[in-house]
This record gives sequence, structure tokens and C-alpha cells, in this order.
Amino acid sequence: MSFEALQLAPPILKALAQCGHQKPTQVQAEAIPKALAGHDIIASAQTGTGKTAAFVLPALQRLSVDNPGHKSGLRVLVLTPTRELADQVTQATRTYGKYLRVKSVAIFGGMPFGEQIKGLSRRPDMIVATPGRLLDHMERGRIDLSQLEMLVMDEADRMLDMGFIDDVKRISSTVPKSCQILLFAATVGSEMTRLAQGLMKNPERIQI
Ligand code: AMP
Repeated sequence: MSFEALQLAPPILKALAQCGHQKPTQVQAEAIPKALAGHDIIASAQTGTGKTAAFVLPALQRLSVDNPGHKSGLRVLVLTPTRELADQVTQATRTYGKYLRVKSVAIFGGMPFGEQIKGLSRRPDMIVATPGRLLDHMERGRIDLSQLEMLVMDEADRMLDMGFIDDVKRISSTVPKSCQILLFAATVGSEMTRLAQGLMKNPERIQI
């Protein structure tokens, strides 16, 4: 299995080659085709398996296909439990999206609002955020999820452990019904399954 076989756009393939990624990892090989086909996904995959690219690549593909810079507005949101992870995911979007015109912004707590407001005013295609700070901006009318096409929950089990479940529910209640949802977690327990059932449409399960 090669990245070419996954039918990713040439600018994404070029960035992957530059990273020295020769072939997809298992979670990438399983998740990317399902994500590109538009399915909701629940994936159990630990850090180190290549899970970040498993959702960043389909997200970039979606933004690249019908977005030669024309559509504007927020189309992809990635929720993470911590600012470190939000930062890491944002870096990955920039690395793999190097040859695309995709604007991604990181939004997390503990940082001054000024820089984030500036980032939001550039109308990003993609936001990577921790739930609390995202809600803060949403309540002040700075972020609108009404055009969202893809919602990713990264390390969703940690988000639940850290008490973000109500925030995650509030955020996801504002996305369109048609929004694709991808959930990644090290372990998928009963609380997670309940959350997923309430949000997703016939999710595909992936277990690494
Ligand atoms: P993650 O599990 O997403 O935290 O990724 C772990 C590490 O694997 C990161 O340093 C990635 O750059 C790297 N990585 C992701 N996908 C691949 C791949 N297909 N081939 C080689 N390395 C990869």
C-alpha cells in the first residue's frame, strides 16, 4: 500500500515525500480511505501509530479538492485535550499542507486572546483547539461552526478524563447534521461509545 494508492492530491503526496514517509502506517491505511469516502470513524489508536496524519491528511484532502482558495470559512475543526497536542496537530497541518493554500489556526487556553483573535480574523479553513477556549471564542461570536464539514476529536478518551464531555457536547451540538465526525482514542470505553452513538452516523470502527 502506498500513499499514491490512497488517491491523495499531488501537493499532499509531495509534502509526504519530503517528510520521508514512504508508506502509510496501519491506522493511516485503514482510516484514510474510509475518511475520504465520507464515513464517520471511531478509531482506537495510540500515540506513535501515525494517528495524526490519519485525520490530518483526509482533512487537507477535503480542503484541497474543492478549495482553490475560493470557499472561505471554517470547514474543519480538530478538538484536542491539551495545548501541546493542539500545537503538534497544527504543525502537522502545516507540514503536510505545505503545498496547499490552507489556513490553520491553533486556539488553546493559557494564551493571550489577541494573537488568537488576529488568527481568526484571517478566516481560517481549519482550527485546532482545546474545548474550553474554543467555546469562549464561540460565545463571543468569533467562531461559527455552521459551515463545518469535518469534526475530529483527537485523544477523545483524554478529553473525557479531563472533564471536557459537556464542552464537547456543546460544541458538537452546533455543527451541521451533515458534518463528518472522526474520533480517535487510545481506548474506547462505554462513556465514549455513548458519546459517539449520540453524535455519529453508522461509524466505521478501526482497532489498531
Ligand atoms: P503520531 O502517532 O501521529 O503522534 O505520529 C508519530 C510519528 O510518526 C510522528 O513523528 C510522525 O511524523 C511519524 N509518521 C506519521 N506517519 C508516518 C508514516 N507514514 N511513515 C513514517 N513516519 C510517520
